[in-house]
Amino acid sequence: MRCYYDLHLHSCLSPCADGDMTPYNLVQMAALNELDIIALTDHNSCKNCPAAMEVAAQAGITLLPGMELCTQEEIHMVCLFPALEAAMAFDRFIYPLIPDIPNQPEAFGSQQILNARDELTAHEPKLLATAANIGIGQIPDAVRQFGGVCFPAHIDRASYSILAALGDIPAEYGFTAVEISARGDVAALQRQYPLLRQVPLLLSSDAHYLEDIHPRRAWLELPDRAPEAVLRALNGGCAGFGRG
Ligand SMILES: [Zn+2]
Ligand SMILES: [Zn+2]
Repeated sequence: MRCYYDLHLHSCLSPCADGDMTPYNLVQMAALNELDIIALTDHNSCKNCPAAMEVAAQAGITLLPGMELCTQEEIHMVCLFPALEAAMAFDRFIYPLIPDIPNQPEAFGSQQILNARDELTAHEPKLLATAANIGIGQIPDAVRQFGGVCFPAHIDRASYSILAALGDIPAEYGFTAVEISARGDVAALQRQYPLLRQVPLLLSSDAHYLEDIHPRRAWLELPDRAPEAVLRALNGGCAGFGRG
């Protein structure tokens, strides 16, 4: 079955995301847009995933808990997990690797942790818009140990992307999926980087505002909508994909 997805969304926990991007609101907007599968991927944190998963279960939409991890090299990596426990364990693994720089809410945003009713439960005190103290070479294995899959985010972007940082997508990392933004020239990228002819080329919104969550646009061919099916597809078992 064709499952329409958006696997890269930020909530109000991300310092650069809008305050309206609450777990409740973002799931409801994705449901209104008739998406089948979404992922919550805040910068360097999974702490709004518990609320988002609770809302998603009520809304009948599959939500994968995740994180957009910023590596030492300033490369953004989307990391997705099959279940909340795995994501929160990965969050506990990453948290000590985030530099101890306090957030300045007036400058960067208030980094809100909410429950499923959008009630504030905490503010994240560390600034999340920093590079974690972990190199890109360590990340695929680390994510796999928690049962997850990772892929480089928005590789065509001029900042915080693997191509911007390294100028290549080294085969040694064994990536089995890649995200290319809507503005990326897929054909040109495929000519230059052979890996991109072999793996699913994901298209997600990277939404920081509710109105940026895209409607049905990109799909994966999956046997069902379970998180495990998504992870299998992104881990070398992709039966088909499309991007509009
Ligand atoms: Zn990013
Ligand atoms: Zn992002």
